[in-house]
Amino acid sequence: MAILRIALPVPKRQLFDYRIDGESPAIGCRVIVPFGPRTLVGIIWEIAEQSQWPEDKLKAVTQVLDDKPVFSATLIHLCQWLASYYKHPIGDVVQTALPVALRKGAANQAKAIDHWCLSEAGQTIDSSELSRAPKQQALLAQLRRDSLTKSTANQDFGPAAVKGLLTKGLIEVIAKSHTTDEPWVSKIIIGEKPQANVQQALAISSIEAKLGEFACFLLEGITGSGKTEVYLQAIESVLLRGQQVLILVPEIGLTPQTVSRFKQRFGIEVGVLHSALNDTERLQVWQQSALGQLGIIIGTRSAIFTPMLKPGLLIVDEEHDASYKQQDGLRYHARDLAVMRAHKEQIPLVLGTATPALETLNNALSGKYQHLHLPVRAGNAVVAKQQVFDIRQQPLEFGLAKGMLERTALHLKQGSQVMLFINRRGYAPALLCHSCGHVEQCHSCNKPFTLHKSLYKLQCHHCAAAKGIPKRCANCQSSELGSQGVGTEQLEQGLAEYFPNYKSVRIDSDTTRGKNKLDTMLNQINNNEFQLLIGTQILSKGHHFPNVTLVIILDVDGALFSADYRAAEHLAQLITQLAGRAGRAEKPGEMWLQTHDPAHPLLQDLINNGYGHFARYALLERQHANLPPYSFQALFKAQALSARDAHEFLQQVADHFIGAEGVMCLGPIPALMEKRQGQYRMQLLLQSNQRGLLQQALNQYISSVEALPLATKVRWSLDVDPQDFS
Ligand code: ADP
Ligand code: ZN
Ligand code: ZN
Repeated sequence: MAILRIALPVPKRQLFDYRIDGESPAIGCRVIVPFGPRTLVGIIWEIAEQSQWPEDKLKAVTQVLDDKPVFSATLIHLCQWLASYYKHPIGDVVQTALPVALRKGAANQAKAIDHWCLSEAGQTIDSSELSRAPKQQALLAQLRRDSLTKSTANQDFGPAAVKGLLTKGLIEVIAKSHTTDEPWVSKIIIGEKPQANVQQALAISSIEAKLGEFACFLLEGITGSGKTEVYLQAIESVLLRGQQVLILVPEIGLTPQTVSRFKQRFGIEVGVLHSALNDTERLQVWQQSALGQLGIIIGTRSAIFTPMLKPGLLIVDEEHDASYKQQDGLRYHARDLAVMRAHKEQIPLVLGTATPALETLNNALSGKYQHLHLPVRAGNAVVAKQQVFDIRQQPLEFGLAKGMLERTALHLKQGSQVMLFINRRGYAPALLCHSCGHVEQCHSCNKPFTLHKSLYKLQCHHCAAAKGIPKRCANCQSSELGSQGVGTEQLEQGLAEYFPNYKSVRIDSDTTRGKNKLDTMLNQINNNEFQLLIGTQILSKGHHFPNVTLVIILDVDGALFSADYRAAEHLAQLITQLAGRAGRAEKPGEMWLQTHDPAHPLLQDLINNGYGHFARYALLERQHANLPPYSFQALFKAQALSARDAHEFLQQVADHFIGAEGVMCLGPIPALMEKRQGQYRMQLLLQSNQRGLLQQALNQYISSVEALPLATKVRWSLDVDPQDFS
């Protein structure tokens, strides 16, 4: 009798043994099993001859759901690696990797899916009759070429256009199921394409030379230098070999325009995994891809788990983007997982960006990755001129200096749009003197203290020293000490009163929630319906704003003096990305950075020498400070209603790790944001010069940490390779 060792969706670091009466299905198949009073869907992870439990204690599998594995051998390996590297329960890893429908036990069979196609009337109508409804006309034209799923039609053309055609009786629903041959290979029609320039040609041929084996490329090219064109031409070779391509894009970058660029070039259906899909639609893309029925699959972070029958190439666009790191549950980094996956599949991986993450750049500089450059602009894009604005002793109105308000007025008068930006990533308030720019620093580390108002103290996040909050500046005795942060709402309100004749729009994660909302807003911006654009990070990704001629970043200091060592890197990426997206050749933009420290070396390096130079300098700094990528970190976070409980728990965790070979412990100290929604938040940082030693220590102690009595009282998590210290 075989023993099935099953991965189950429970927070335990173990597999569970079950009997099977009759023939055993293969590893990777799903089964339903009894678990206490419940029944659960699990995946067969191992098959053994014997169990450590006596046979009569073992329960039997209730039902076998699959006759073929839902997980390929590669995906099983990847999940195993994830569980072991991130110290996460295997059952939960599997849950993250699997589409919701399969988790719930749905049949792993391609179901027929409703598509819009043309009715008889739709096929014969003269499309010029729709010239007053351009969206409907466009949808009609698309449906003449090929049918569309309901969600894609809504996403790409809007529900109103669909409804319009439906009321006119021009479209109807048919349920389409897919056959198992590979229709896309024969359907490829290569659309019009530009002649690659020398650098592009070099990049394309370098990638092509590695098809069929593992290789990792960093494609570094400024915005508009033609990275996407390089992807497209490399993809062409892969598709013509009959192989599939998986493309990851940032959460915000997955717009209909992006997808249609790929569709149009090759004339084939593109599998899209966006957040607006329902469970059935998501499952269909997963299945079609697993069966090799899709040539191109584009998706956000979790798309990295999509199985492919004939994988040929992996692409991670905007590889520096923060959305690739999952910030709850299984805290994996999709870019790092992509490297693992490309290796397992023996295919090349292309990491493309204008502003490489320092980790990635380091791998390219050390020769681990092949470094491809696109130094010249392909289109007619321009880069906004970057300058600093000294705000010491300047009166600020809702965070803006007078000089900046005047420039804003000037640009608005000229009919341009103005973008005002508040940077919240890595933001940690330092105690800044508004009169002289002095920043209160820890004497042992020469690093800025972080201000923790609700704890009434200044905390050094480098050595854990703390002290009370002084009343006067140590340098000039001024009492104008503060942290100078404004919120987007405050800014929006202030601007509305100051510029009553212009319309403003706020774009942040609150205002853009919901299907198509961001897309609608972007369209309105491009139609000049708004003149003042107030935003956070979302605005820096993937969108071009030709009418924006002035960009102001209000609080550069929050990142410059942050205790989060990645804050400067992220700020530099933001500035560079924004500068590359504002203005156009005949209307170039300018960009102002408000700061109390106009001579700051990193800031000066960035605006004078560009991101590439800045990044190499920043890497040197990291090396001197022994920070990632030159060392390796893991972060325990805890939060509780009482700061004491959170601290006590982490102190007990620290007691385990103190003395672990080659591992340094920092903390417990307050998180950068020490209080959120009434909960006190603390953290404990582990660091080692060797990844292996850190992993070893975590392996050794993670179970005892879990068994601590306080572990059930506080909310805690472990983040391996943490990106976010807030
Ligand atoms: P990126 O992805 O680096 O921002 P894109 O690939 O989108 O750049 O290219 C920017 C613009 O330049 C696009 O409109 C693209 O069609 C055009 N382009 C790219 N490569 C070439 C080329 N070799 N010749 C002419 N135009 C090009
Ligand atoms: Zn001062
Ligand atoms: Zn210190």
